[in-house]
Amino acid sequence: MMSTPTVLVLPAPGQGHVNPMMILSHKLVDHGCHVIFVNSDFTHKRVVRSMENNNGSSSTIKLVAIPDGLGPDHDRVNLGELCDSMSRTMPSELEKLIEDLQLNEGIKVTCVVADVFMGWALEVARKVGIKGAFFWPAAASVFVLQYNASNLVADAILDSDGLPISEKPLWLSSYIPTMEIRDLWWLNMFDPFVGKQMFKYMMHCLRNSNLTEWFLCNSTPELEPEAFSLLPNILSPIGPLLTPNNNNTISVGQFWEEDISCMSWLDQQPQCSVVYVAFGSHTLFNQTQFTELALALELTNRPFLWVVRQDPNCTNKVSLPPEFKGYKGKIIGWAPQKMVLSHPAIACFVSHCGWNSTIEALSNGVPLLCWPYFGDQFFNKNYICDALKVGMAFDSDENGMISRGKIKEKVDQLLSNENTRSRSHKLMEKLKHNMDEGSTSSTNLSSNNRQLL
Ligand code: UDP
Repeated sequence: MMSTPTVLVLPAPGQGHVNPMMILSHKLVDHGCHVIFVNSDFTHKRVVRSMENNNGSSSTIKLVAIPDGLGPDHDRVNLGELCDSMSRTMPSELEKLIEDLQLNEGIKVTCVVADVFMGWALEVARKVGIKGAFFWPAAASVFVLQYNASNLVADAILDSDGLPISEKPLWLSSYIPTMEIRDLWWLNMFDPFVGKQMFKYMMHCLRNSNLTEWFLCNSTPELEPEAFSLLPNILSPIGPLLTPNNNNTISVGQFWEEDISCMSWLDQQPQCSVVYVAFGSHTLFNQTQFTELALALELTNRPFLWVVRQDPNCTNKVSLPPEFKGYKGKIIGWAPQKMVLSHPAIACFVSHCGWNSTIEALSNGVPLLCWPYFGDQFFNKNYICDALKVGMAFDSDENGMISRGKIKEKVDQLLSNENTRSRSHKLMEKLKHNMDEGSTSSTNLSSNNRQLL
């Protein structure tokens, strides 16, 4: 009799990586696998703490941790430094974990599914003689661009640090919108030095592409047909990875405790009336912009649900202006976002355009108001507004600020635009059945599973 396969799942230490890989893990469990979910020790503590507070459980998934090489009080805000430390420390720790599981618990790992940003893990897998696969948590189009980064260097479009030599826009195909060079994700890390570190780290991770036959991707050809057709045998769509709406009990590995009181508040709001405002796990605001946003939400005279994260260790502190009364609105520290976006009271989503937030909105037919912050979010914004045409972007002034008047204007403009709403609904219908049995993503997941195990 065949023994149950054990899959080691290894996300990069970010909320937008842990969430989809946790959903993938639950699907692997449904396919009859044992899953061991390996976080960095810092992330592990956060996930376990919020899981306890949310009364969630991951009883079907074993959660373990390995050190990332930084001390417990380190804030890990500098992603370049974090990646450097991870690539120095984690490979040997992962190897030790795999050995310990075998020696101490009799668990033989069958394969490793690693986030592309943990690409070194496939070298470890090869060393210890187990199979590996990559997981790409963001847009397929972004993957295609970075997969071609070495060609862009060879063609003297980028230098060896990933910095642009030419200002010519990138154009990969007729469907993927033209991309300004400055929209490449590693050029949007605030600090050019960090961008350079991240580019080198990504290239290092992609060096192990020969160790996997394909990259599992949290997207679908319904959303990005051309991107998938550009790498047909490499990029394998298995998304959008979403928790089923009828299952609130499975844990997705939230870093913050969800405030579920917003769900009963939403129940009291008229259908399609609420502006949902959330900027993911990284975005920071300066006080002036935060004030403008707060007062804009009141100016809209619509109900709003606004996620304002509480990060006790963060030095960037902002506060609500004294004029802000909060009528009609609810502010929470962290939302059960997937549930919120599927609530009929939601009218639109003011979002930073992280890929997970994007596909959660699109899968629920919620139009977006795009306010990108860093990394791939600028590309996602272009894709939402120019290719899919299911959202609009804010216009900032010469200082990069968006005034309260402009914010209100855009909310009104989006909500009165029937075309955007109807396109969002049509796209939702296309995406709705994508994880049903027999769909491309579900069939891919099953067949990749069979090949891997
Ligand atoms: N999220 C959430 N509650 C919130 C804000 C975000 O559950 O209040 C989840 C959201 O559903 C998504 C993830 O956190 O799955 C954020 O990932 P995304 O790629 O959108 O952005 P990132 O945080 O990586 O910038």
